[in-house]
Amino acid sequence: MNVKLYYNCILCNRRFERTPDCKIFPGFGVCGKCLASVKFSDYGGFEGISYVDYIISPLYYTPIIKSAMASFKFGRQRAFATFFADCIIQYLNKNGGIDDADAIVSVPLSKKRIASRGFNQSELVADIISKYYKLPYYKDCLVKVKDIPKQSKLNRLQRITNVYGAFKAVNPALLDGKTVVLIDDITTTGSTMNACAKELKACGVKKVIALSCSITDKHAD
Ligand SMILES: [Zn+2]
Repeated sequence: MNVKLYYNCILCNRRFERTPDCKIFPGFGVCGKCLASVKFSDYGGFEGISYVDYIISPLYYTPIIKSAMASFKFGRQRAFATFFADCIIQYLNKNGGIDDADAIVSVPLSKKRIASRGFNQSELVADIISKYYKLPYYKDCLVKVKDIPKQSKLNRLQRITNVYGAFKAVNPALLDGKTVVLIDDITTTGSTMNACAKELKACGVKKVIALSCSITDKHAD
């Protein structure tokens, strides 16, 4: 007798039967239909973001990922951390990119934002990546010292000035001479990553590999 197994798709909320093209995680799944509309990326490169040495991302920020990210951040669906971390791990296992890394850090949120959201989405992803690759996670080495307007509401120039002085790296004794993987949720202009990387380098970090869960489509070409 064939036992049919059903799961709830985290992306479309429909129940689906397990098929070879779907993906199953503990407690949830992603149906084959949704997975087919996810635009995976093998993006890796340097774009003249001055303090970031290299930027990599496993996913393009298409509508399905935009909606997933919104459910993760504003709908407080922590299971998405597993989904995004899995996409990152698949990317890294295929393309490499963090082989020389000493530690993981993540883009911090302000205390006010954490209080309203309950968690930092990048921290949840960073935690999984750190455990999977057995790299130490320097959770408290970067802090957000200013509560600034959301980057998503601003244009390119405003984004650069908005993040100026927003972050501070601490604990130079730990960071000095290290290659770190800096994890964020979405990269648009790279100005947030750059502002964090600048502070990390001021604390002695040798190399910053920016690892973003998703990246806007303009990076596709
Ligand atoms: Zn689905």
